[in-house]
Amino acid sequence: LVQVRGLYKAFGAVTVLHGIDLDVKEGEVVVIIGPSGSGKSTFIRCINGLEAPTAGRITVEGHMAEAGNRKALDALRSDIGMVFQDYTLFPHLTVLENILLAPRLRGRLKGEAALRRVMELLDLVRLPHKAQAYPAELSGGQQQRVAIVRALAMSPRVMLFDEPTSALDPETVADVLVVMRDLAVRGMTMMIVTHEMGFAREVADKVVFMDGGKIIEEGPPAQLFGNPQQARTRAFFGKIL
Ligand code: ATP
Ligand code: MG
Repeated sequence: LVQVRGLYKAFGAVTVLHGIDLDVKEGEVVVIIGPSGSGKSTFIRCINGLEAPTAGRITVEGHMAEAGNRKALDALRSDIGMVFQDYTLFPHLTVLENILLAPRLRGRLKGEAALRRVMELLDLVRLPHKAQAYPAELSGGQQQRVAIVRALAMSPRVMLFDEPTSALDPETVADVLVVMRDLAVRGMTMMIVTHEMGFAREVADKVVFMDGGKIIEEGPPAQLFGNPQQARTRAFFGKIL
C-alpha cells in the first residue's frame, strides 16, 4: 500500500534522511523506533507531504510522487491520516465540530450520514458522550482520541502516528494505545513512531529501527527485540530496555 524508494531529505547542507526504502502492506502495522534525531519524524512528515523530500519517491495506493513534484506529493495526503504528539484541536469548537470541520470543507461527509459516521468513530474510541464537549473539558488522552477520530473521519487508507502518547499523563497513555490496537485489529494500515516498546511487541507486524537517517534493521518484533542482527540495534536496546 505504501512504497518508499531512495528517500533523501536535506535541510540546507545537512542531510537528515540518507536513502530510505520501505514497504508497508495493506493492513500492516509498522512501528518505527530509533534514537532522538535519527529522522523518524522527518520520515513520517515526508510521507504526509509536510516536508518536501530532496530525492526519492513515495507511492501510496498506487499514486506515485517523486521528489520535486509538489502537486503529486500533496495529492498523496488525501489517502493519509496523521496524528501528532500535540493533539491540536480547535479550542473554540466542540468535539463534533472539530471532527466534522475537515470532511465538510472537502465535501467528503454530508448531513445525517456524516453525523452517524462520526458517532460510530466516537464509539470506537469510547467517547460518544463527549460529542458536545469542548477540548478544554477533556483529558489529554481523550483529546488525543478525538484527534484520532478527526483523522479517521477523512477515511484514510493509511494512518501515520508520530509519538501519539509522548505528551500524555501515564494514566491516559493506555487508553490511546487501546484505541490504536483496536484500529490495528480492524485492519487499518498504520505507521507509528513510538517509544512504547510493549505496544510495538504486541501490535506491530514489523518493527523498523532507524539511526542516522537510515533504516538499520527491520523485521517482526520477535526478531528485532529478541534477536537483533545489527550491533547498533543491540546497542539501542541495551540503553532503553
Ligand atoms: P525525536 O525522537 O527526538 O523526535 P526524530 O528521530 O523524530 O527525533 P527528526 O525530528 O526527524 O528526528 O530530526 C532528525 C534531524 O533533522 C535532527 O538532527 C534535527 O535537528 C533535524 N531537523 C529536523 N527538522 C529540521 C528543520 N526543519 N530544519 C533543520 N533541521 C531539522
Ligand atoms: Mg520525532
